[in-house]
Amino acid sequence: MRVYNTASRSVEDFTPINEDRVSLYTCGPTVYDYAQIGNLRAFVFDDTLRRVLSASGFRVKHVMNITDVGHLSSDEDEGEDKLEKGASRENKSVWQVAEFYIEAFLKDAESLNILKPNGYHGPHGVYARATDFIDDQIKLIQILVEKGYAYQTEQAIYFDVSKLSDYGKLTGQKLADKEIGVRSEVITDSDKRNPQDFGLWFFTIGRFENHDMRWPSPWGDGFPGWHLECSAIIHSVLGEPIDIHTGGVDHIGTHHTNEIAQTEAVFDTKLANYWLHNEHLLVDGQKMSKSKNNFYTLYDFAMQGITNLSKVPLRLVIFFGFISAFLSFVAGMFYLIYKLVFWYSFSVGLAPVVLGLFFLGSVQLVALGIIGEYIGSIHTLVLRRPLVTEKERINC
Ligand SMILES: [Zn+2]
Repeated sequence: MRVYNTASRSVEDFTPINEDRVSLYTCGPTVYDYAQIGNLRAFVFDDTLRRVLSASGFRVKHVMNITDVGHLSSDEDEGEDKLEKGASRENKSVWQVAEFYIEAFLKDAESLNILKPNGYHGPHGVYARATDFIDDQIKLIQILVEKGYAYQTEQAIYFDVSKLSDYGKLTGQKLADKEIGVRSEVITDSDKRNPQDFGLWFFTIGRFENHDMRWPSPWGDGFPGWHLECSAIIHSVLGEPIDIHTGGVDHIGTHHTNEIAQTEAVFDTKLANYWLHNEHLLVDGQKMSKSKNNFYTLYDFAMQGITNLSKVPLRLVIFFGFISAFLSFVAGMFYLIYKLVFWYSFSVGLAPVVLGLFFLGSVQLVALGIIGEYIGSIHTLVLRRPLVTEKERINC
């Protein structure tokens, strides 16, 4: 079996640490809203990988987390807490919001025929919830503080990225390059040593004063940063290094980079041997995202009466959702070539060639249009109606 490993930026033969066993970890959803199908695609990708591994004779131990605390609106730990935002939007407690959207995610996963993780059984089931690993996360922070990788400000405890000479190696990006991106964010803690330093523990003071989710720690009441949970869960449940770590390409630059930094700083060992990432789902050539408001959920499909679509086609639509953008591009290129040849033939008086090309071009464009619009295009599948309103979705 051969896989594309983000860490080496190349296709490699897959060789697990133990001959026929594979440890697989997936970054799961943050449960503050319905998962859009772009997020669900990551889990379909992951599930397909797991089934291929099993069919190839490997015994797969699969663990997935659920982020129910600590994920701020910017991956660089700035902005609001996503769950708190969901709670004020819906006039519920953060705990209620987490429970509600965990249930919604479980239903989505079931409707896509996604296998449940089989490597963990905890107090809340088979998905490893971040809030069930608070003590494990605190232990990691203690080691990071002792080893000099973490420092405390009035607002938080941060990981000092300048202490790792190879920080950012997953992207191949130099720290100085990453700095440019981070500088555009609003840095709310002026005591941070480096703009890229990320939060390990946020104190429930200042902007987080009314934060409902809080736990005692040796440094004061607060809650863990988002990146820490995956390092803690992997250490507690699987042990590092694991064979395969998966996630979306949007995790590479910050979340997975920070997971690697924490684990390597604490345990002096690799976190994972293979890093496999799924691409974004495209809608009319653009990344599907909540910030662009061009996203769909499985609920949107249901609102269109697409409730009897069986699990397999639904998975295929999500898995191959990029196809409409690709076909649009191919159709555009063919059309350009066709026009150039058409005008050239016309100018040199080749009327039969002109007519022939006109016919062939029409057939080809219609064929590509049909394939692109009716097989690949999520946008068309949802019948080009306005997105359901926030209110409709919440009342679902
Ligand atoms: Zn993660």
